[in-house]
Amino acid sequence: MTIDEKTLERIVALVSKELTVRGADTSTFSQCVAGEYEDVNEAVDAAYAAQKQLLRMTLADRKRITDSIIRHCAPHIEELAHMELEETGMGNYKDKLTKLNAAIYGTPSVEDLIPGMDANDFGAAMYEFAPFGVIGALTPSTNPPETVINNSIVMIAAGNSVVFSTHPNAYRSSRRAVQLVSEAIELAGGPKNLITSIANPTIEKTNIMMKHPKVIMLCATGGPGVVRTILSSGKKGIGAGAGNPPALVDETADVQQAGKDIVNGASYDNNIPCITEKAVVAVDSICDALIDSMTKNGAYLIKDKEIIEKLTAFCMPKEDSPNKKMIGKNPSYILKQIGVTIPDDTRVAIFEAAEDNMLVMNEQMMPILPIVRVKDAEAGITLCERIENNRRHTAICHSKNMDVVTEMASRVQTTIFVVNGPCYTSMGIGGVGHNALTIAGPTGEGLTSPRVFTRKRKIMLVDSFNIRNNKMKA
Ligand code: NAD
Repeated sequence: MTIDEKTLERIVALVSKELTVRGADTSTFSQCVAGEYEDVNEAVDAAYAAQKQLLRMTLADRKRITDSIIRHCAPHIEELAHMELEETGMGNYKDKLTKLNAAIYGTPSVEDLIPGMDANDFGAAMYEFAPFGVIGALTPSTNPPETVINNSIVMIAAGNSVVFSTHPNAYRSSRRAVQLVSEAIELAGGPKNLITSIANPTIEKTNIMMKHPKVIMLCATGGPGVVRTILSSGKKGIGAGAGNPPALVDETADVQQAGKDIVNGASYDNNIPCITEKAVVAVDSICDALIDSMTKNGAYLIKDKEIIEKLTAFCMPKEDSPNKKMIGKNPSYILKQIGVTIPDDTRVAIFEAAEDNMLVMNEQMMPILPIVRVKDAEAGITLCERIENNRRHTAICHSKNMDVVTEMASRVQTTIFVVNGPCYTSMGIGGVGHNALTIAGPTGEGLTSPRVFTRKRKIMLVDSFNIRNNKMKA
């Protein structure tokens, strides 16, 4: 009996699924699930050998591998969303489906690697995007499987292999994504261990990985601490750090639409993504109308000053230290903890705040959204600069006045600047452009794509390929 390739693929997928469901006694194996290693050095060595094999493969091979990742992960979107939600307790199921869909279908592959050409009387030059080698990737607790899938696609498309150190609090869902991606690579005939990961990750293990001489490049998606760590490693580092996106609304904006957009953006996965609206700055003359629109679109307005003070201290007790237990929870759950009952279907709890309120100036990652009144757009822009505070991440502007839009864009200097829409349009969700789970503000690469994970090389063809002045024929 002969088995065709498709049937074989199905059998392999079924067997590996069965093995995962049953679980394995990882203590007796150095390699736990596909791609995962207890021993950090083994994980790096395996990824190093796999990258050497990938170097011998074509761009079409890389594309086949990344297409396989899409095909193989897509049927597991619901499983991954459930797993991630259950494990981290942060966010909401519906938006996790959106985030996973965007990561799987919206991440660019080899089409991003367009070589450059230049020519003059001396010949021609070609600029190629070459891989770095083994990349060490640190992933967050807020988008765990999404980041593994997105980083795998862009880093492999660029010709690299990857060693993942995933967040300990999101280990299970990240590990499942590593396993699915590893299976997809093998199904496409790619090198085994093109992505590997560290079993039961700890900071100590991550440090061993980061210092390993075969790890040439580091990519950290997370808070300021981990970005600082990779930038002081002495290696090439891509740092995707924290944000605190302000949303300005001026008197020329479509206020009804702005209210709806801000609620949609700020409630997206219960505010855990780094791009989501974290504070609203509204010009006084339209502030009441804006609040009215927000409440019509699922926001709950808290008016009591004592409750506002209590809520602020509870959610952000210290600078840059949100109450970890409240991150990504529903508004009604958070308010219940301080003895306040609001409807369960509230998408975001809003309140008017002074500009130095702790929830205005710090990244809360929970659907509790302060609104600050300002006298005019100029005062609003100044405040937005303070709120963003050089994180170089994201800002949002609702205005029909191009002078205001231009002034704010040039002053906040963020990587992402959304005009008249919700934050997630910048991720290709109802907007233009590709999806990225690693937005490199501090190091400046922006929404990461394969090109970011390459070295630019120049090939100089002296006197060659000069079709305008061919000396051979003269
Ligand atoms: P985190 O900083 O706690 O962890 C990120 C990763 O770094 C994890 O894998 C963690 O284990 C590791 N890590 C943390 N400190 C380390 C250290 N000192 N040494 C070695 N490894 C270390 O991040 P988190 O809390 O899971 O994610 C939320 C934060 O990440 C928020 O601030 C959010 O804005 C930011 N974020 C940014 C982006 C972006 O693209 N810019 C994307 C997602 C999240």
